[in-house]
Amino acid sequence: MGVSKERVQQSFIELNNHLVRSNNHRIRPDKLLILLPHCIQDFDCSIKITGNIKNCKGCGKCKIKDFVELSDQYQVKIAVATGGTLARRIIVKNRPEAIVAVACELDMTSGIQDSYPIPVIGILNERPNGPCINTKVDIEKVRNAILYFLGAPSLPAV
Ligand code: SF4
Repeated sequence: MGVSKERVQQSFIELNNHLVRSNNHRIRPDKLLILLPHCIQDFDCSIKITGNIKNCKGCGKCKIKDFVELSDQYQVKIAVATGGTLARRIIVKNRPEAIVAVACELDMTSGIQDSYPIPVIGILNERPNGPCINTKVDIEKVRNAILYFLGAPSLPAV
């Protein structure tokens, strides 16, 4: 039909985010989980952050440092997953009431469905170096989603 699979997935994620935001959730910080993909970590960094993101030494070469600071600032949980299986395990272990997830279209689409009925706001990553390596994300979009779940007034949707 001339519409790429990726575009359909983007539309699904946009619709999901819109529906989640229309429900006026109010979540306690300790019940909110930020879930990041491993490909955001600098490819050359040898520090293992999948078990505990706070192992990051904060060198600033990638955005992991900023995400650790963000989670400290709002006192929300944060974790890094290498794929869907680990993401599911992290969700079972942390039992969040809401999730702010960063991922590509494919992982996000399945992740939102797998997490149901937990509400997820999905932020797509950017892939200037191709898929799965040194990916980027606009941290302000993640902050915006955190503030929405925590009940900050009238934030515009991202
Ligand atoms: S900010 Fe953290 S995760 Fe990123 S390269 Fe530096 S030490 Fe590694």
